[in-house]
Formats: sequence, structure tokens, C-alpha cells
Amino acid sequence: MTAKLIKGTEIREQILAEIKEEVDKIKAEHGVVPGLVTILVGENPASVSYVTAKIRTAKSLGFKEVQDNQPEDITEEQLLALIDKYNKDDSIHGILVQLPLPKHIDEKKVLNAIDPDKDVDGFHPVNVGRLMIGGSEVKFPPCTPAGIQEMIVRAGVETEGAEVVVVGRSNIVGKPIAVMMMQKGPGANATVTVVHTRTKDLAAHCKRADILIVAAGVPGLVKPEWIKPGACVIDVGVNRVGEKISEKTGKKVAILKGDVDFDAAKEIAGWITPVPGGVGPMTITMLMRNTLNSLKFRLGLM
Ligand code: NAD
Repeated sequence: MTAKLIKGTEIREQILAEIKEEVDKIKAEHGVVPGLVTILVGENPASVSYVTAKIRTAKSLGFKEVQDNQPEDITEEQLLALIDKYNKDDSIHGILVQLPLPKHIDEKKVLNAIDPDKDVDGFHPVNVGRLMIGGSEVKFPPCTPAGIQEMIVRAGVETEGAEVVVVGRSNIVGKPIAVMMMQKGPGANATVTVVHTRTKDLAAHCKRADILIVAAGVPGLVKPEWIKPGACVIDVGVNRVGEKISEKTGKKVAILKGDVDFDAAKEIAGWITPVPGGVGPMTITMLMRNTLNSLKFRLGLM
């Protein structure tokens, strides 16, 4: 069997086109566009590159984009005051603080200061609570899990009654995707098992999975013999396993591998996501959708 590839790069383009259409319509009918502020403290190269990608995408969709770069030595008090300013700014619907923050700043305090109704990353405890309750309570599902669920749905994989096994229990991927897949509703209604470093027999659980979602950060952790024939395998892992020279740019780039042995797994699975080009491109896309939805909540359109 050769698995169908679920390509995040293609699904991203479909969703971005849908968002753009909605942005244009809302602009024409209500005279407003979604507003996103990205707050970057310092010049960590990885953070600069993430923020740049977010800004580029937001601009391409016609959002109002505010790029607020702050020096490494900004005080916690100043950063909190900045968040308060954007909390009160009606033209801003999403506030994003790029992590990590410098050591002298309490990250939790900063993230918790964001108005939950502008927390488009979905990490504020209020939004975590809303996600747990489910249904119409949910405002901003966290972006990577939301992207995973969207890929499963758009690939046409049946989730109702499916055995879903999630490898990993982090707050940003494992726990929220497990909650989302077990909720009542379309794209969910699954029976979910979460496995982690203290699980006794990882292989036995994985072998039962109709949908296997792997977010461990361990290259090649999931062996092909752990995959049920025909299963849907979502590989969230992004692991740097070396460097190569890019054919396009001639520059050194990282060699990325997932948590699943892709070449062997694709001969067994029914669907599989590649790394790179699978879950990765979905995260920023869902951030854009959360920002659009934030405006729609404000306008009473949702
Ligand atoms: P994390 O380190 O916070 O959590 C990893 C989880 O996996 C832990 O709960 C741990 O118990 C479990 N785990 C680790 N090794 C294990 C093992 N040998 N057996 C069983 N369980 C094991 O990581 P995270 O933030 O959830 O990210 C996981 C992976 O997903 C990373 O590779 C990360 O880069 C990637 N990721 C990708 C995206 C994206 O593509 N957009 C977003 C977030 C994370």
C-alpha cells in the first residue's frame, strides 16, 4: 500500500484563499479588516524568522499588521503596559507575543495579561478552559492542533468512533489535540488515548490507532511495524538531524525529519503527512484564521 499524502502546503493555500475571500467581504460590508500585532522582544534569529513569516502571511491576506519590535532589555512592566495598550486598541483583534522572552521577564505573566478575546494563539488559561468545555465555548483553538484536525477533516478521514492515539502530552500539541478529537462534533467524536514517556507499551497502543498523531520530538520514534495498515498518520515532529546546502539558494539549511520513519510508514499507512511540508505550514494558517474569527466575534458574525 502507498499512503495518500496529506500536504500541508496545499491545504494551506486552500484555507488562505478562503480567509482572503472573507476578509474582502467583511471589508466591503463593514469597513474593517482583522488587526494583528506581533510583539518581538530582542533579535533571536529563529524568532525573527517566525515573526517575519507571520507578518508576510497577514499582509498577503489584507490584515492590518502591526510589527512591534522591542529591545532585549525592555522591562516586564513596560511589556505589560504595551499589552495593555493593544488590549484597549479596537483596531487590533489578535495579540501575539513571540516566545521565548528574555530570562528577566515572566512569560506566564505576560501571556496571561493578553485579553483572552485577543489571544489568537489560544494559550491563555481562559481559552484552554473554553477548549476543554468544547462546542460553542471554543473561540481560539491552539494553532498546531487546529491545523492537525483541519488536515484530518480535509483528507476525508473518518473520525467518528475512530481510535485516536496521540504520542506526547505537551500543552501546545498533545493535550489540546487529544481534547479536540474526543469532543462531540464533526471532525471529532473519537476515542482517544494519550501516550508519553511513562507509557509501558508504546508500540501496543500505536498499533491500535486508526489515527496516529505523533508529537514527541524524537526522530524516527514510531516504527513502521507500529502502524495499523490503512491508518492515518499525522507526524507533528520537526527534528533537525543535520545540514545541507540548499539547491535553490546555495545556503546551508537544516535537514528536517519527523517522528515517524516516513519511507517505510508510507507503505503501510492509508494517509500520511510528510516532514517538512505537512503539519508545519498549517500553524501560521490557523493563526490567521483565529485572527479573522476574532474580528467576526467582535462583529457578531460568529
Ligand atoms: P514537548 O517536548 O513539549 O513534548 C513532547 C512530548 O512527547 C512529551 O509529552 C513527552 O512525554 C513525549 N515523548 C517524548 N519522547 C517520548 C518517547 N520516547 N516516548 C513516548 N513519548 C515521548 O514537544 P512539543 O512542543 O509537543 O513538540 C513535539 C514535536 O512537534 C517537536 O518535534 C516540535 O518541533 C514539533 N512541533 C511542530 C509544530 C509545527 O509543525 N507547526 C508545532 C509544535 C511542535
